[in-house]
Amino acid sequence: MGFLDDAINKTKEVFDVACKKTDEVVTVEKQKFNIASLKSKREKDYADLGKIYYELVKDSADLSDETRNLVDAITEKNEEIARLNEDIQSIKNKRVCPECNANIDVNSSYCNSCGTKLD
Ligand SMILES: [Zn+2]
Repeated sequence: MGFLDDAINKTKEVFDVACKKTDEVVTVEKQKFNIASLKSKREKDYADLGKIYYELVKDSADLSDETRNLVDAITEKNEEIARLNEDIQSIKNKRVCPECNANIDVNSSYCNSCGTKLD
């Protein structure tokens, strides 16, 4: 084998190693991306499961302290969110229908969305 063949083979070897390294980096980055994507979807599943569980157990008297604290924390936030929404509605001279949660004029006698009589 001549000098040129050696040089070409050496170059090819370096190139192959570089390609293998690049493939590894690409594969690892791709898998890291897939893991991050799955973790994100899993967070949503946990949240959805949590909502179902919350509705099931929120009125239960038989909960562990840890579960009771989390249920109470969610209930408090729901109540605070409802209060803040009422604030927004009163600022806009609107109120929320107690039946269907539609935004209705503060002076309306009936909900224009579901027809509930308002006091
Ligand atoms: Zn309504």
